Amino acid sequence: MKLSKSIYLFIAFIIISITSFAQQKMSILISNHTFSSGKPEVGTLHIVSTGNAAFKLKGKDAKKFILAGNKLSVKKEYIKPDVKWYDVTVEAKTGSSKAKESFRIVHDQFITNKVIAHRGAWKNTGAAENSIAALQHAIRLGCQGSEFDVHMTADSVPVINHDPTIQGLTIASSSSDQLGKLKLSSGENMPTLEAYIKAGLGQNNTKLVLEIKPTTSKERALQLTRKVVQTVKELKAQAWIDYISFDYNICLELNRLDPYARVAYLNGDKSPAALAADKLWGFDYHFNVFKKNEHWIDEAKQKGLTINAWTVNDEAMLKWFLSKDIDFITTNEPELLLKLVKD
Ligand code: MG
Repeated sequence: MKLSKSIYLFIAFIIISITSFAQQKMSILISNHTFSSGKPEVGTLHIVSTGNAAFKLKGKDAKKFILAGNKLSVKKEYIKPDVKWYDVTVEAKTGSSKAKESFRIVHDQFITNKVIAHRGAWKNTGAAENSIAALQHAIRLGCQGSEFDVHMTADSVPVINHDPTIQGLTIASSSSDQLGKLKLSSGENMPTLEAYIKAGLGQNNTKLVLEIKPTTSKERALQLTRKVVQTVKELKAQAWIDYISFDYNICLELNRLDPYARVAYLNGDKSPAALAADKLWGFDYHFNVFKKNEHWIDEAKQKGLTINAWTVNDEAMLKWFLSKDIDFITTNEPELLLKLVKD
C-alpha cells in the first residue's frame, strides 16, 4: 500500500513536471505590443527557450496584421486615430508541440510628458494612495504613468497597497477575503491587482507602473512575481505595464519570464553598467542617488537605459531633473510637474 502510494505520487510529480516544462517551453512572446502610424511594425514573435517555430494568426482582427516570418505588423489602412487596439491570437508550432496565445496590440497614443504619479494622483485630489480613484485621477490629468505597489495575500492573491500591513493586518498572513472587505479612506475597497489593472485598461494614454514589493522570503518574492506576470498576461496588459522593484531577484525573474518586459531597478546600489549587463530596461533611483552620482545620468543614457528619479516633490528639484532631460520623474505633485513641463 505504502509503495503503491509513493509510485502514484512519483508518477504525478513526473506528469506535473513535464506539463509545466512544456508550458514554459511553449510560451509565446512578442518583442513589443504597440504600433503607430509612424511605426506599423509591432515586433517579432518568439517561443520561450526554444528555436524556430511556425506562427499563424487567428481571430477576427487577424486580417488587420501582416505576419512575415516572425515579424508582426499592422496593415497601414487599419491604423486610424480612433482605434485603440486590436486583439490577435497567435498559434505556434514546433515539431510536435503547439501553443496558442492572445495579445492586445495597442495603438501607441501613450503620453510622453515624463510625469509619473506616485501611488496615483492622491495628494491634491482627496483620493486614497494606491486606490483606483487615484489611478483614475492620474489618467484624467494626463500623466505619462501612474505608479502603484503590489503585495501578496496569504492565499496568493496580488493586492495593491504601499505598506506590508494595512489597518492592523499583515497582508502576507491575511486572506484575500479579509483584506477585500477593508475600506480605504475614500470609501473604495482595497483593490486586487486584477481589478486595478482592469481599471487602467480602458484607455491608451497613461501607462501603469507596477512596483512588486519585496516580501518575506526569496521563494515568496518569486512566487509573487510569477503571479503578477501571469495576471498581466491573462489581462493582455503588456503594452501598459512597466515593472519596478527594489528586489533585484524580482527584476531578474521578470526578465526571465518575459525578456521583453520593461523592468527598472529602484534600490540605488548598482551602476548603469551593471543594470545594462543584466539587460534591465530602467535606472530608477531616489533623487539623492542622482545628486551624489551625477555622472550616472550620462552613463545610463549611454547604456540605453531609461532614467527615472523618485520621489521628487520640490519645485527646484523637479526643475533640476527636467534640465537633465531624464525620461520620467515620479512625484506626489503631478499637477505641479505637468505645469512645469508645459511651461
Ligand atoms: Mg512604490
